[in-house]
Amino acid sequence: MKISEAGAKKHHPMVFGLWIGFMGFAGIVALLFWLVLHFSVGIQYQKQVEKELDGAVQSVWEMYGQTDFDTNISFLAGTSSYFIQILSEEGGEPLLSVNSQGESARPQQENIADVKLFERLDASEGFCNYYVEDETHDSQWAVSAVVLANHNGNREVLVISKSMADVDALMDLLTSRYWMITGIVLVLASVISLLLANYFSKPFRHLNKNAVQMAEGNYKTRFVREGPSEARKLSETLELAQEEFNRTEQLRRDFMANISHDMKTPLTVIKMYAEMLEDFSGEIPEKRKEHARKIQEEADRLTEFINDSMELARLQSGTVQLEESVFAMRDVVGEAVSRACAGREDFEFDISCDRDSAVKGDRRLIERVIYNFVSNAIKYSGPQKRAKVNIRTIQNNVRVEVIDYGIGISKEELDLVWKRFYQVQPHDRKKTGMGIGLNIVSEILDMHYAPYGVESVPGKGTCFWFMMEVCNEKM
Ligand code: ADP
Repeated sequence: MKISEAGAKKHHPMVFGLWIGFMGFAGIVALLFWLVLHFSVGIQYQKQVEKELDGAVQSVWEMYGQTDFDTNISFLAGTSSYFIQILSEEGGEPLLSVNSQGESARPQQENIADVKLFERLDASEGFCNYYVEDETHDSQWAVSAVVLANHNGNREVLVISKSMADVDALMDLLTSRYWMITGIVLVLASVISLLLANYFSKPFRHLNKNAVQMAEGNYKTRFVREGPSEARKLSETLELAQEEFNRTEQLRRDFMANISHDMKTPLTVIKMYAEMLEDFSGEIPEKRKEHARKIQEEADRLTEFINDSMELARLQSGTVQLEESVFAMRDVVGEAVSRACAGREDFEFDISCDRDSAVKGDRRLIERVIYNFVSNAIKYSGPQKRAKVNIRTIQNNVRVEVIDYGIGISKEELDLVWKRFYQVQPHDRKKTGMGIGLNIVSEILDMHYAPYGVESVPGKGTCFWFMMEVCNEKM
């Protein structure tokens, strides 16, 4: 058999999913780092410089007019790496110009304090912050300016500037390191995801191969045990399924062998006796009677087998509705025992009942359960010609036990007797049915949610039991 993939939705292999997952994760981490670098380091530092310059402007403004003003300015510029100028709106040379070493010097760049400065001050009520391109360092100047005094409409302006070149160099270095690390992380994520995908998907690939072999009819294929625990567990489960399948297959084969035997034999016997009736025994009354009885027996056996098979199929179809009623367990046991013992007057069946408890369930099906236990007790009693049924009320439950003193069942086979077509003894058509009875029983009791079981000692006897809740409703 070929596994058809027609119409199947296309799914990506595990390696693809893991690769995408890892790359996505690495991408998100890289993005977060970039945001931290840009906002936390870059923008934060810029803000800090602006704040520093504002503070410096404020303190110079307060010092203005004091005697040691020039000395203080030089000190401030030297210690904080500021360029400080004081300009007059009239134009001409700056009134004061100090470089970042605190020495008198020419302004670093003309456009730090050009005509636009006064326009900015007009627009900002005498105090402003701005940035100017630093052409020599491919960076920026952060500038703060404030009007110190106004002499007849001519303003004297303090301009403090600081180069951002150092920060920009640091940012450039961090950015280049960032790209390097991001590249390494992405390559590592790729490699790790491929290795992991291989580790996780390998056992599933092998299991799939084994499963395909099984689907193609090789029921002896071994499922590899490797990889993570889930894959090992799946392999164990598949092996269990395989074992179960093999056993069912074996049972099916046995059933086919049995069914042909069980149907063919009665038919052959019926045909044989019918021929005998026709040829000679029709004339001899005793022989005629005996042969007619044989024909009836075999026909009954066939009918019972066909009925059982149909009942089982019906129960297993899941469509059976329980016809529930309240009834006394003792009555149903009595009926089942007398039906099973009909024609077996040599067999002694005791019934003991401690209390007349009622239960609720499908009366016909529960009788079927008891009938099965009782007729098995008769069938497998061997030379012992006695058995018994105990009906006991234990707390809120009625427990029915069918006990015989016959051949018993070995420990290994106790659980198996409930399976379909299972027969402990080699087939003996005189004695046994088809191994369907207890399977029907288990289906019925499961439908009633009734616990059941079997205890047995080989050579000593067997006890089949089940329990149902006591019902206090009126019968
Ligand atoms: P069967 O129609 O073959 O009796 P069942 O399903 O009723 O089928 O029983 C399954 C098998 O369980 C029987 O073939 C028999 O080997 C074993 N078994 C059932 N009841 C008893 C019992 N009381 N004592 C010993 N063996 C039993």
